[in-house]
Amino acid sequence: MKTLLYVLWFTMVYTSAYGSSFDRFFSDGTLRIDYFYAGNSAKTEIFFDELIKEPYWGGPERLPENKDDMGNIRYNLYDKESGILLYSKGISTLFQEWQTTAEAKTIARTMSGTATTPFPVAKVIFEIEERNTKTGLFSKIFSLEIDPADYFIRPELRTPCEWKKLTDNGDHANHVDIAFIAEGYAKDEMPKFHSDVSAISGYILSQSPFNEYKDRFNIYAVSSVSEESGTDIPGARIYRNTILNSSFYSFDIDRYLTTSDNKQIHNLAANVPYDFIFILVNSDKYGGGGFYNWYAMATSGNSVANMVAIHEFGHNFAGLADEYYTSEVAYSDFYSFDVEPWEPNITTLIDFDSKWEDMTNKDIPVPTPRESKYKDALGVFEGGGYVAKGIYSPKQNCRMNSINAEFCPVCSRAIVKKIMYYSQ
Ligand SMILES: [Zn+2]
Repeated sequence: MKTLLYVLWFTMVYTSAYGSSFDRFFSDGTLRIDYFYAGNSAKTEIFFDELIKEPYWGGPERLPENKDDMGNIRYNLYDKESGILLYSKGISTLFQEWQTTAEAKTIARTMSGTATTPFPVAKVIFEIEERNTKTGLFSKIFSLEIDPADYFIRPELRTPCEWKKLTDNGDHANHVDIAFIAEGYAKDEMPKFHSDVSAISGYILSQSPFNEYKDRFNIYAVSSVSEESGTDIPGARIYRNTILNSSFYSFDIDRYLTTSDNKQIHNLAANVPYDFIFILVNSDKYGGGGFYNWYAMATSGNSVANMVAIHEFGHNFAGLADEYYTSEVAYSDFYSFDVEPWEPNITTLIDFDSKWEDMTNKDIPVPTPRESKYKDALGVFEGGGYVAKGIYSPKQNCRMNSINAEFCPVCSRAIVKKIMYYSQ
């Protein structure tokens, strides 16, 4: 009897924690926690900014079984009373990249950050963890108790604007919802924005492995209007007044296109139910940028815009690392050779078992020589993550290495895993 009661009790607790209890802990909408990262190459501090209630939650509508194990930063939400983990998400932003630059050794600076979770019904504990790049382990750097009844949680839509659901495959709760945001499109350029979004999103969903799951995606076009057309190109002394203040020459790399205007990004995305943010920039210059679970950014107007866009979306959607190993990227010690990087498509061989060892043929030499004999082989090729030595990639060619290739099987598997997470 005791055993039976225990089984019954366990089933009830398990079901309540991981099953249909999403509605018990959450109501409609998103809780947005805005804060600032501050620090330098050696230290990160978090300073609280404000709480906002956004109208939609893009999904999924279930509790996590574990914390997200990806990203350089991770935030978690716990029910205060029971301690149950209600939500967990890993992210990476421009601030963590900046911390690996030479400038971060000489000055401290700050950048805006945002965490979004489903809107809770009872008091919660919100925490931010930072991954130690030398050990690979997360440790807590910020904690805040939040009462959802707090009247300082601002519910107004900050930057309302027109939007269109360009691809509608169903309920946002169990579909991957991508919000494309217009950047550098003037008022009379919205028809161009809509056709650019159709072209870029159509290309992404026509490519493997997305094409096999394209009915699991919804595409939104958020028609945010900029005063001027284009984007900043500081190296050419071109400056444009645009809604997201995007700019080429991030970290003084001419093709690295980003924005740190984090609050406005989220103000605009909040117009629609979204899981992912893609900022489409009205420029014909080659370039882009992408950050795991933060945003992807690319230009719409050159001959390889589609291919740049899907590469940047690979960073944003599945946390894929760059597999190229000769570059002008200005990072130092971006990856430690002493730990396994968290990105699914590169390895230091410290814990290869956790990566794609299960997908490789036993006869493939490790490391695999970069020779024509292994042109199409899945192996362990030295070079990746911006360095030629000590970091290994799965294939000699992949979209995360050169933009005109297809995703390698390892990147594809990581993408499919994310599609399943957001569309079940
Ligand atoms: Zn790959």
